[in-house]
Amino acid sequence: MAKANEQQSASREDSQIVPVRQEPHVLYLYETRKKIYARRLVGVYRKLKKRSGIPLLLAYALCPWLQIDGRQALWFDLPERKFHIFWLTFWPQDFMLLAWLLIICALALFTVTVLVGRVWCGFSCPQTVWTMMFMGVEHFFEGGRNKRIKLDMAPLSFDKVWRKGGKHTVWLLIAFLTGFTFVGYFNPIRELTVDMFHFEAEPAAVFWICLFAGMTYMNAGYLREQVCMYMCPYARFQSAMFDPDTLVVSYDAARGEPRGPRRHDVDPREIGRGDCVDCSMCVQVCPVGIDIRDGLQYECISCGLCIDACDSIMDKMGYAKRLISFTTENKLASGVSRILRPRLFGYGAALMLMAGLFLATLVARVPLELEVIRDRALLYRETPRGLIENIYTLRINNMDEREHEYRVSVAAEYDFSLIGDTQVRVGAGEVSTHLLRLELDPGLLKTGNADVRFTLEAIDDAKIRDTEESRFIGPYIR
Ligand code: SF4
Ligand code: SF4
Repeated sequence: MAKANEQQSASREDSQIVPVRQEPHVLYLYETRKKIYARRLVGVYRKLKKRSGIPLLLAYALCPWLQIDGRQALWFDLPERKFHIFWLTFWPQDFMLLAWLLIICALALFTVTVLVGRVWCGFSCPQTVWTMMFMGVEHFFEGGRNKRIKLDMAPLSFDKVWRKGGKHTVWLLIAFLTGFTFVGYFNPIRELTVDMFHFEAEPAAVFWICLFAGMTYMNAGYLREQVCMYMCPYARFQSAMFDPDTLVVSYDAARGEPRGPRRHDVDPREIGRGDCVDCSMCVQVCPVGIDIRDGLQYECISCGLCIDACDSIMDKMGYAKRLISFTTENKLASGVSRILRPRLFGYGAALMLMAGLFLATLVARVPLELEVIRDRALLYRETPRGLIENIYTLRINNMDEREHEYRVSVAAEYDFSLIGDTQVRVGAGEVSTHLLRLELDPGLLKTGNADVRFTLEAIDDAKIRDTEESRFIGPYIR
């Protein structure tokens, strides 16, 4: 491992310019970050990254602009504690569903990881997608890898200022749009846009936009691979999910070693060499600055860019492609790999079970909540007609997207008289409270109290109903 790390550091130093300034009398416990100047090469995996990243970016940018039934389709309304997700509205009472959904996402991630390694990191993770976008801007203004290295080392000049200035301006613009869109998921984005243009946006919204813009600018512009290496826990615990049949980006050492340069027309076997020409292209394109020839490393995000780079070299040399490839440890060792295996079945089964239960709960979910609060200030009251009366407050939460008229009924051992509004209308997403009284002849009560069950049912849809238990208290009769 130590050897591998040494080799890795050596390869990084080979391939990257390292402006390090350290004071000799200070003990540094951490390695100074070496700036990575990733080379840009076209290839299958870069195209794949584009094809997966662009739809995700578009979805992120456009979703808050969608409207359903006159409201924002995706709107996390924190002040009202309501999450509108397309046609559904979730209330604090539904947060169990949210926790459930997060567990399902985690299980899906585990299942995908067991099967194809860290493809989430390489192709879909927002950190990767935004970093790639920022790198694209950098490439546009500052040019390819060698030009960027030269530009960084060059003294201040007009050329350097406009290139760096242009890059940072576009980065800041993207960061602002990212922060603005993010806040648009919590504040209606159309109103937010108008408020921003009129400089009337709420200070809290401006604060969060600036905070998220700043984080985007830092994470995608400067921290980049360090977020994956030092901040993301997923990179650390992924090894617990890997097994020898998991697809990972691997270098075929048996074929590539001993590495070394050679002339184009020389058969490497004749000079005792493997297929690796030691061109370091796989290192130069790597966005996290590692050398995949040192073996599987936790920094590797499985982006496949080193495969593109090596394939282009193999093409030029006239060798077979896939010296570096997405393959499994078993496939490399013995040529055989198993896709279907107990670990995959385990994660898959847990995922299906959780997803099935979640869907069933979602389908069976009733957008109504009834709360019955008995008047605790008074045990019971005797009416002028000599009846015993209990007072209840009914709190009706219509969690549906439309208004409903509800009917209240009571079921109990005794034939109570229900006094008050037994038919109530509650608007979409509204909570309303109503007073109701139950009356009973005290002579009928066998004991001092009785169980009562309140039922609330939508008149226009019998499936929307909720029940709540309470008690009726009367005088204690021997
Ligand atoms: S080693 Fe290859 S797959 Fe891994 S992060 Fe670097 S370029 Fe991507
Ligand atoms: S790109 Fe391929 S040939 Fe070049 S150093 Fe990497 S593994 Fe060797």
